[in-house]
Amino acid sequence: MSATFAVTATDGAARAGLLRTAHGEVRTPVFMPVGTKGTVKTLHPDEVRDLGAQILLGNTYHLHFRPGSDVVRDLGGLHRFMSWAAPILTDSGGFQVFSLRDTIARVDDEGVTFNNVYDGSPAHFTPELAAEIQANLGSDIAMCLDQVPPPGVPRRTLEDAVRRTTEWARRQRDAPRADGQLRFGINQGGTDPELRRRSTEEIAGLDFDGNAIGGLGIGEDRDLTFETTRWAAELLPAGKPRYFMGIGDLEGILQVIEAGVDMFDCVLPTRTARTGSALTSEGRLNRRNARFARDGGPLQEGCDCPACARFSRAYIRHLVNQNELLGLRLLSLHNLRFLIELTDGARDAIAAGRFAPYKRERLERATWAHS
Ligand SMILES: [Zn+2]
Repeated sequence: MSATFAVTATDGAARAGLLRTAHGEVRTPVFMPVGTKGTVKTLHPDEVRDLGAQILLGNTYHLHFRPGSDVVRDLGGLHRFMSWAAPILTDSGGFQVFSLRDTIARVDDEGVTFNNVYDGSPAHFTPELAAEIQANLGSDIAMCLDQVPPPGVPRRTLEDAVRRTTEWARRQRDAPRADGQLRFGINQGGTDPELRRRSTEEIAGLDFDGNAIGGLGIGEDRDLTFETTRWAAELLPAGKPRYFMGIGDLEGILQVIEAGVDMFDCVLPTRTARTGSALTSEGRLNRRNARFARDGGPLQEGCDCPACARFSRAYIRHLVNQNELLGLRLLSLHNLRFLIELTDGARDAIAAGRFAPYKRERLERATWAHS
């Protein structure tokens, strides 16, 4: 058990814990809302905090190009810049670079060269630069630069990415970081048992403050995602936090928690809001649907979010149909609260030794099973 992280309860492989950062403690399992460009889209930071969010995710890629991490540093760091006093995790930019495949010019052992999405000018990311940007941002948790291949690539390509990810992690481990900043390694290997095992062991062997499972949930078979997560999580040191990168649907969250994952993030709640949909226990509701036109009930019966407290489905549907910004804001508030409440419930269930029935009840209520 490290000073950074303590497991406070276990139930099967699932666990509850306490993560200590420079900006306060985080109770796990935890859902991390994504503040891509230094904001959770449309929401005031106090609103996000009031929903129960404990930690936010910021994107290195976007903040590096706009406004620039040196600008953020000179203005006192990302916490002060966006006026968020609680913990922040920053990704390394690797996922953005590798998911914008058409923009990549070259990948070699030194780093990755690409054209940035803002003005198309050439850019170059290395592990050392990923460390420097995140040090400038002053996040509580910095992530290693990794190579994320898409699902279905030839095994040789996947193996190359695993080797390079370890080399990059070793270089980033030796690079400077901000005072009190934690650093997490990321393993790759897709769903290939041998390569995922190799990567998991190599990255864990570099002794980071925490470990992330990367390169899953990106379009491969869902059953394989969860099966791989289960055994990969087991290979990770029990005394350090485990982070599944990018999952935010009801079933996915419950599955990775059951596998022993402590942290996860997703743009789903705010992205879903922008398509006019609400996440509910029974499934996803499309607000544009005509059957809600005269529905005076809340988005979700029993939800304690600011949208459900005062506004009807009919009103929110009207706002969405008229492209009113309040509609987007209310759906974002509700969707974030839904996932935070789901995760809080899981944490309580683990502490009470009843995670399995909790998971079953939540899944039985849901008519949709994945994003
Ligand atoms: Zn609500």
